[in-house]
Amino acid sequence: MSKQILILGAGFGGLELSTLLSESVADDVNVILIDKNDAFRFGFSKFELMLGRATMPDVSLYYRDVVMPGVEFRQETVLSIDPSAKSVTTDKGEYNPDVLVVALGADYDFDSTPGFAEGGHEFYSFEGALALRDVLTSFTSGKVMIGIIGQPYKCPPAPCEAAMLLHEWFTERGIGSDVEISLVSQWQLPVPPSPEGSKAILDRFDELGVSYISETVITSIDPENKVARTAAGGAIPYDLFLGIPIHRVPDVVEASGLAVNGWIPVDDKNLSTRFDDVYAIGDVTSAPVPKAGTFAESAARAVAEHLIAEIRGEGSPTPFQGAGVCYVEFGDDLVGRVDANFLPGTRPTAPFMQPSPALTREKGQFAAVRKARWFSGAI
Ligand SMILES: Cc1cc2nc3c(=O)[nH]c(=O)nc-3n(C[C@H](O)[C@H](O)[C@H](O)COP(=O)(O)OP(=O)(O)OC[C@H]3O[C@@H](n4cnc5c(N)ncnc54)[C@H](O)[C@@H]3O)c2cc1C
Repeated sequence: MSKQILILGAGFGGLELSTLLSESVADDVNVILIDKNDAFRFGFSKFELMLGRATMPDVSLYYRDVVMPGVEFRQETVLSIDPSAKSVTTDKGEYNPDVLVVALGADYDFDSTPGFAEGGHEFYSFEGALALRDVLTSFTSGKVMIGIIGQPYKCPPAPCEAAMLLHEWFTERGIGSDVEISLVSQWQLPVPPSPEGSKAILDRFDELGVSYISETVITSIDPENKVARTAAGGAIPYDLFLGIPIHRVPDVVEASGLAVNGWIPVDDKNLSTRFDDVYAIGDVTSAPVPKAGTFAESAARAVAEHLIAEIRGEGSPTPFQGAGVCYVEFGDDLVGRVDANFLPGTRPTAPFMQPSPALTREKGQFAAVRKARWFSGAI
């Protein structure tokens, strides 16, 4: 009898895990992949939306095109998870799978930063990025502050990319010199595990006149006086505040009891949780890696190998590698690359490849390969 594997969340992690299981053990599994949305979108398409370079349909990969043997996609909203009983309720029914994988990503908590919801903007959600497009179009001069409010947050280089892309966008509109962009971060360096990558970003900031305000914790936004207040008692002025919100697990995960200190703890090697046959991958976990799509994929590979070895009763699965590639947009159509490795038990390494047209093409390929692998019905 085939094993029923229920995967909650069809993002980077859920899609990659479904694909790997389909490629190797399609006849032995019945994978049900659930997501509340009808389409997947790469995180980096938020930049294209906010700059008005693409529309939502342009950046949507529809789940109806997930066509893989042994895998069925269902558009449903997960309402509750009972990890001890391994049961899940959605808006359409109940599931009691043999194996449960939670890949529900990270949500945002705008309300915990006073003033943010009332007076701030953001490009971390698709809705926020879309709404920002009109705000940017009507902004003609002044101080734009990109403020990283908490840790951890998705895709550590993304706020720096936003600063460089925004500078380019304002310059194209002839108002580059009327707009001052700053990035406020709690970290000393933009990408702490990569001194070389950080240096390249800071050098580019210097060229563009973008300021990096390091080791500064924003605690609230004061929209009336247009200042961001800091933990050290400072007040930094802005005309347009773009915040990277506090991240947290989705409500349904919080209510399930799976999370401890905010995120789901997992075994470093195979991403199992403390509940039998319940795994968690990607941004929803406290695995010691950055919250980014390529790390969610790396976690999916470890779980897939583990489950495949179990199903076949043979083979020795490769433990979670904690590795991921981060492409960094520098503007002017140039992309750099950080090859980050957070292998458990070793010091993180993150060598950097300087921005080049070749890496810009490689990033395009990165998206194309995933589209072909995960959405074969669209090809
Ligand atoms: C601006 C920006 C740029 C980025 N650029 C990059 C990049 O260049 N490279 C990179 O690797 N990463 C990038 N990221 C990060 C990347 O998008 C995330 O880290 C990645 O998507 C995490 O994968 P995941 O599978 O853990 O979760 P997600 O991809 O977030 O998937 C979670 C899924 O769960 C679904 N879900 C949530 N709750 C429910 C529910 N109750 N019921 C049903 N479904 C539910 C969601 O709809 C979602 O599809 C970027 C992020 C941002 C914000």
